[in-house]
Parts: sequence; C-alpha cells; structure tokens
Amino acid sequence: MDERVKDVLARLGLSTAPTGVAGGEFETAHGALLQSLNPATGNVLGEVSAASVEDAAGVLTRAQERFVSWRMVPAPQRARLVATLGDLFRRHKEDLGLLISLEAGKIRSEGLGEVQEMVDICEFAVGLSRQLHGLTMPSERPRHRMMEQWHPLGPVAIITAFNFPMAVWAWNAALAAVCGDVCIWKPSPRTPWCSVAVQHLCNVAMAQHGCPGVLSLALGDVDVGAWMAQQRGFPLVSFTGSVAAGRTVATQVAARLGKSLLELGGNNAIVVMPDADLDLAVRAIAFGAVGTAGQRCTSTRRLLVHQDVMEPLLARLKKAYASITPGDPLVNTTLLGPLIGPRAVQAFQAAVAAAQQQGAVLVHGGKRLERPGFFVEPTLLRIPRGVVAPITLEETFAPILYAFEVASLEEALQLHNAVPQGLSSAIFTHDMRHAEHFLSAQGSDCGIANVNIGTSGAEIGGAFGGEKDTGGGRESGSDAWKTYMRRQTCTVNWGGELPLAQGVQFL
Ligand code: NAD
Repeated sequence: MDERVKDVLARLGLSTAPTGVAGGEFETAHGALLQSLNPATGNVLGEVSAASVEDAAGVLTRAQERFVSWRMVPAPQRARLVATLGDLFRRHKEDLGLLISLEAGKIRSEGLGEVQEMVDICEFAVGLSRQLHGLTMPSERPRHRMMEQWHPLGPVAIITAFNFPMAVWAWNAALAAVCGDVCIWKPSPRTPWCSVAVQHLCNVAMAQHGCPGVLSLALGDVDVGAWMAQQRGFPLVSFTGSVAAGRTVATQVAARLGKSLLELGGNNAIVVMPDADLDLAVRAIAFGAVGTAGQRCTSTRRLLVHQDVMEPLLARLKKAYASITPGDPLVNTTLLGPLIGPRAVQAFQAAVAAAQQQGAVLVHGGKRLERPGFFVEPTLLRIPRGVVAPITLEETFAPILYAFEVASLEEALQLHNAVPQGLSSAIFTHDMRHAEHFLSAQGSDCGIANVNIGTSGAEIGGAFGGEKDTGGGRESGSDAWKTYMRRQTCTVNWGGELPLAQGVQFL
C-alpha cells in the first residue's frame, strides 16, 4: 500500500485492514479486489476487497432493522450524529483532502474544498433537522384540521461517481440521515480509499451515538449498483454518474415504481456579451474549463461569445491557457492535475480528433503529455460560424472547451439550449437586460443559471441539479430534503359530525 495512504489511514485511527463492506464496523467482503490507482503516476495506491451482491444484501437487511428505530428518533436528535460527523470531517480535513488528491487527482485546494463541502452540508443538515415542516390548510369541513407531515422513506441507495468521491455522498447522506432514512453507499470503484476513509468516520460517529446501520457502505462494481436499482427495499435510489448509466438505473427503478434522484452529465456553457468584464470572464472560464481537469459535471465545455469580443477574449484565454502547466496535484502551485485514467485520456484524444474532423480549429493544447500518469493539455477549440460539430453536443470529461461566435443574445441562447443536457450555465454581462433575459423563462434551460460567475463551484445552500438528460434531480440545499421523505396529508375530525367533502350525503 502507498505509504501516504497508510499514514492517512493510521491518523484516522483505522487499525484493521478495511474492506468495502461496513455499517458500523468493517466486515468480510466477498467481491473482487479493487485496485486504486494514483492518476498522477499510474502507480497502485492499494487494494480493497469489494462488496459482492450478497454482502450488499446483508448490509441492506441490517439497515432495514436499524430503520425501524431510527425513524422514531426525533429529527433534532438524529442531527447529533450528523453534527459529530461534521466535526470529524473538519478535524480530518487535511487527510481526507489528501486522499482525494491521491485517488481522484484533484489539486490540493480542490481536494480540501471537497472536504469543506462535507462539513458545510453537515452543518446545513443539522439546522434543517428543526425545519422539516409541512403545511396546514383550512379544511372545508367544520371542526376539521388538515395538515401535511413528512415521514422518513426507508433505506436510500446512494450510487456515486469518481469525480466527487466524498462530497456527493455527503450531500445525500447528511440530509437523508436527518430526515430519518438509513443510507447505503455504493461509491465509484475507482476511488475506494476515499469511501473507506469516510465510512470509517461514519463508524466512529455511529458508535458514539449507538446507532450502527444508519450509514453503511457497499463498495462494489456495477453489479452492486444494478442490484440496488432493482431492489424494492430501496424506496429511493440517488444516482450520480453518466447519462448512459443513469438512464439504465432510472429505467430499472421506474420498473418497480421506486423513486430515483438523478444527477447526470452536463454540457455547460458560458455566454460572453460585448459589455462583459473580460478579466472576470477569463478567470471564470479558465476555472470552469480547466479546473478539476474538466472533470466536474458543471465544467465549462462551451463558450458562446459575441462577435465583438471574440478575438480579444480568445487572445486572453490563449495567454491564460499557456500559463497553466499540468503537474503534480499535490504541489501547491499546480492548477491542472491528471485525468482519472487511461480511458479518460483516450476519450480526450478521440474528442479532440473528432472536433477537428468536424471542422473545429485548434487554438491551444490538444495533446497528451509524455510523462507517467494521465495528463493532457488544457485544450481550446474554435468552432467557425456555420460549422456543425456533433461532438460539441457530448460531454467529454476532460479540459476541452469549444468556442462559438454569435451575433446576438438570441443566437447564443439558441445554441446554448440546443444540447441534450441541462445542468449549469452562465452569462457575463453588465447589461441588466441581458442578464435578466438569460435568467428568464425564455433564457437558459438549465437547473443552474449564473450571472458574472462561472458554471462550476456551486454552494451547498441552493438546490443543485439539472434538467433534460441531466436527470431532473435536486440535491443539497433549499427544499431538496423533500426527496428523502414521504409526504402524508392528514385530516383530523374533532367534532361530533361526519360531514363529507364536496357536500356528499351518505347514510
Ligand atoms: P459512471 O456513470 O461511470 O459511474 C457512476 C457510478 O455508477 C459508479 O459508482 C458506477 O459503478 C455506477 N454504475 C455504472 N453503471 C451502472 C449501472 N448500470 N447500474 C448501477 N450502477 C452503475 O460515471 P463516472 O465516470 O464515475 O462519473 C462521471 C459522470 O458523472 C459524468 O457524466 C458526470 O457529469 C457525472 N456527474 C454528475 C454530477 C451531477 O451532480 N450532475 C456530479 C458528479 C458527476
């Protein structure tokens, strides 16, 4: 095992060899050995035994048993578990962030930022525990009271992607736990140590509060995820990943009339108007397109630039791109780390080649770096007017940005909304009419729309998610908690008569 991983696990207090199965303590796992690769070197970080489907079934049974008592614990008391978890994440921020950098290749500040996001959502969930409120409506019948209340759903399956190996789980689990659900996490098999470390801290927190089985781990491959999608024991399946896998999962969940919460791929664009502050725009575009090596669902993939500022903007972007050298994500000055693995590099190369075949002009980058690990250049391609490049409709998980020139906001919006995905969007302008047009019902069709801020780097306080092929799910802040609960409408008759609704007479 890599020494740094070993040190982190020791500092977290993980003495025994962990496995991919846990719900209070790590258990024997009967699945294959999962290899964890450091994308910055290509070296093996270590191996973890994965959960088999049978292991996952055992975890579900124990979680169901826990649910029977957990759902009756008052929400503010359930929040104590989440508060403890938030404290543990804060205390171990450096080490958890280091694991993210080692396994997912995120630069140091982004790895730490991801851990901070876990702390933030725990704090949010603690406050939320006193606000899981329903409405009271006037009844049409005398001496009747009508109200809504929200109850826990049951076991929630949380299937997550490699690129947010900790935070996406936390967005779901912190809210679900406070809502009275129990959670079973199936993380990406590409980031096993991240999930094992987080589960260990869950085990510690659950032991402290005497509630094993609230937060469990079934770290397996696609077979475990597919099994979860088909199990009636999971009233809700929260799935974060590619559109293709999400479509399969959603279909399986729908076939058994379960609920799914889908957070799928994006193809996010920034519109730049002639009145934009180009300094702001360049920084936001560079962070959106190159940050996290273009491996965020909210990464900026398309630029829709007004013809009056196309040349100056491209000139500045070229300069900014030239100043970004891919490198070791653990070196503080590095802004661009590696892609997750060899297949991601192939997808990058295929997309760059396809774009050029389809008429795009390479402005910067386009190549893989000849060094160990999975590094590529930040890449900027210009799509000349009139060129139809179907590759730009797809999400390629890499730092590739396609720049289109437009003559008006209307033309920008037409191109903007012409992709299958609908996650995040932004406009740079100082004209409030352009900004409001972009935010209006005839503007961006995405779940997230920003003004003078890029497409990536959302705060946890708002509901996060997107439309169309992005799946329509909402996680994190605002009223996203409602997805994790079931609504009950209750009418209480406190009178001595039995009046029927709509004045119906009977007996
Ligand atoms: P992926 O679809 O390959 O895998 C995601 C998870 O689903 C993994 O745990 C995987 O094992 C599991 N899985 C795959 N096929 C499955 C199936 N048929 N049944 C059940 N489980 C299955 O995605 P990835 O490469 O890990 O992540 C990148 C993708 O995730 C990108 O498309 C990105 O946009 C998306 N993503 C979206 C959001 C969002 O909030 N919208 C956030 C992060 C990532």
